[in-house]
Amino acid sequence: MDDERAKLLAKFIAPLRVAPGSKVKLARDFDPGYKASFLKKKEGATILQAGVEVLAEYQARLAAQDTWGMVVCLQAMDAGGKDGTIRHVMSGVNPQGVRVCGFKVPSAEELDHDYLWRYAQRLPRRGEIGIFNRSHYEEVLVVRVHPELLDRQRLPEQAKGKGVWARRYTEINDWEHFLADNGFKVVKLFLNLSKEEQRCRFLKRVDLPDKNWKFSAADARERKYWDDYQAAFSDMLTHTSTEWAPWYVIPADHKWFARICVSAVLAHTLMDIDPRYPKVDAAKQRDLAETKALLEAEAPKGAAADPFAAELAAGAKQGEGSKESKQARKQRKEMAKVRARVAKA
Ligand code: ATP
Ligand code: MG
Repeated sequence: MDDERAKLLAKFIAPLRVAPGSKVKLARDFDPGYKASFLKKKEGATILQAGVEVLAEYQARLAAQDTWGMVVCLQAMDAGGKDGTIRHVMSGVNPQGVRVCGFKVPSAEELDHDYLWRYAQRLPRRGEIGIFNRSHYEEVLVVRVHPELLDRQRLPEQAKGKGVWARRYTEINDWEHFLADNGFKVVKLFLNLSKEEQRCRFLKRVDLPDKNWKFSAADARERKYWDDYQAAFSDMLTHTSTEWAPWYVIPADHKWFARICVSAVLAHTLMDIDPRYPKVDAAKQRDLAETKALLEAEAPKGAAADPFAAELAAGAKQGEGSKESKQARKQRKEMAKVRARVAKA
C-alpha cells in the first residue's frame, strides 16, 4: 500500500522537481498558473486531507524512530502564500514534532557570525520537522538583489567580489550534504508566483480591511526588482538542486493546488526516509509481559483483568463488519478517481 502511495506521489511531483544539473530559466521552465489537468478543484480538499493524514502518520513514525530529521526550506516572493501553506499542510501534524522558524533581516548579533550560523542554530532535532519560513537561501536571493546587504555582512575582502555567489552555492550544497549524511534531510520548496497574481494579492490586502495589516508598502516597492529576483531564483535553482537536497518549484498562483503539491512533496520525502516504529527486543517483551501480569493481578473485584485488551478484542471483531465513515468513503473514492487519472496522465 505504501509503495503504491509512494509511486503515485512520485509521479505527481515529478514535474515540480528540478533535475540536479539542469539549467533553469523560471519564465521558460515553470508556469506559476499550472494546475494538473487531471485534478479538479472540488477534489482538492479531499486530496489535501489525504496528504495531511499521510504526513501526520509519517511524522509520528519519524518522532518515534528519533533518527532522522527533516528540514523544509520555503522560499517565495512576497504574498507567495508561505504562511497559509504551512498552516494548511501541517494542520494534522502533532505540533510537538514541528518547529517553524521565520528568518527576517539579520540582527547585529547574527551579522557578527558567518552567514550560515543563524540557520544552523535553528535546525530541528532528530525526530522533528523543521520548517524554515525563508531560509539560508535568502543569502543568495535578497542579498544578491541588494548588494548593500552583502556589505553589511562585513566579510573579509577575499570573500566578496567576483565568484561570491558560485562560492555560496558550493558552500550551501556542501552544508546540506553534511546534514543529509548525518540524518537531516533537506527539502526545498519555491512557491512560484506570477507578477500579476502578486499584484492582485497586494490589492486584496489594500481593499479588504481585515487584510490591511498584512499590506506593506515596502513589499510593493520591491516589485521593481522583480526581474532581478527571477534571475536570482533561476540561478539558485540551477546550482543548488542536488540529489541529496532537491528543489521543487511549486506553482503558486492557485493556492489550493500549491497546498496539494507541498503536501505531496513532504509526504513523498517522508516516505523516502521511511521511518519505522522501533521494535522492542526480547528483554523489553519480557518486561511488558511481567508488567501486564502485575497490573492484571491488581484488578479490583468484579473488574476485568485488562479492560483495554477486552476493548481491543471487541474493536477487532466490530472492525471486521463495520462500515467505513461517510468521509472516509468519499476520500477513498475520490483518491481512486485521481489515482486512475494520474496513472493515465
Ligand atoms: P510576512 O510578510 O508574511 O509576515 P516575511 O517572511 O515576508 O513574512 P517580513 O518581516 O515581511 O517577513 O520580511 C522579512 C524580510 O527579511 C524579507 O524582506 C527578507 O527578504 C528579509 N531577509 C531575510 N533574510 C535576510 C538576509 N539574510 N539578509 C537580508 N534580508 C533578509
Ligand atoms: Mg513580508
